[in-house]
Amino acid sequence: MKSERKPRWLRVNMEDLQKEEAVKRMLKDLSLNTVCQEANCPNRIECFSNKTATFMILGTQCSRNCRFCNVTHEALEPVDPKEPGNMAKATQELGLKHVVVTSVTRDDLPDGGAGHFAKVINAIRAVDKEIAIEVLIPDFQGDFKALKKVTDAQPDIINHNIETIPRMYDKVRPQADYYQSLEVLVNVKKLNPSIFTKSGIMVGLGEFPEEVHQVMMDLRQYQCDFLTVGQYLAPSKAHYPMEEYITPKAFQAYKEKAESLGFSFVASDPLVRSSYKAADMLGTKTQS
Ligand code: SF4
Ligand code: SF4
Repeated sequence: MKSERKPRWLRVNMEDLQKEEAVKRMLKDLSLNTVCQEANCPNRIECFSNKTATFMILGTQCSRNCRFCNVTHEALEPVDPKEPGNMAKATQELGLKHVVVTSVTRDDLPDGGAGHFAKVINAIRAVDKEIAIEVLIPDFQGDFKALKKVTDAQPDIINHNIETIPRMYDKVRPQADYYQSLEVLVNVKKLNPSIFTKSGIMVGLGEFPEEVHQVMMDLRQYQCDFLTVGQYLAPSKAHYPMEEYITPKAFQAYKEKAESLGFSFVASDPLVRSSYKAADMLGTKTQS
């Protein structure tokens, strides 16, 4: 039975609001967007107060319309040429050791925005050679050359989320293709095997555990190193409805299953989002 009230493990501590506000002001001054705010991530307060954020490049409007996502789809914005420099400034001001960069999907751009990803990676590296850079990329419609632009810039981690089980794709991710997403991950390894690959799945959409296990097996077969599993929360009543709250015990079972399949690092918890505690993953330093 569905309940409107969130269970205790999904309620967040409201401390550190001032620190969150300071980060928000700085991002606004540099005209930068974060997925933390755009997607109403439930970990915002914790992450901002820990000086962690996931930046969203290439604008705030997406060319696709996934039914689970809070990103909007109005007029697509021109690419901001100042964005790579401003991203580098923000990572320095925040003192980040691990930066996560993602984007909306830009099927309207000739390379899907891959070249802009590369510029952002290069700008950040130019000001900090030691920083760990993780990029969460769209599928670039399976364009191998576009993907190569990103791998040539040599981020530490390339994340591409599989999001849900293949049976749900038509309903929640209609413009994407399950096998194309798996190909993106294995193509990263073909282009540069030293880059870690990562993917994530949301649960609570009406999937069965066996279907989640099959996705995990598929990801391992396509050489994915790291996995995140988190609770789906519908951003509004207009979005795809959440079917059930998955219990912490069931998340622990997913973690154990994924670890048994050989993922180097697994984050599986109701509040996990694809960038949550991202820095911990590189600590593993092992690869498939
Ligand atoms: Fe931002 Fe990721 Fe933290 Fe959510 S988990 S607040 S998206 S850094
Ligand atoms: Fe949201 Fe990504 Fe889908 Fe765009 S492609 S609607 S940003 S999940």
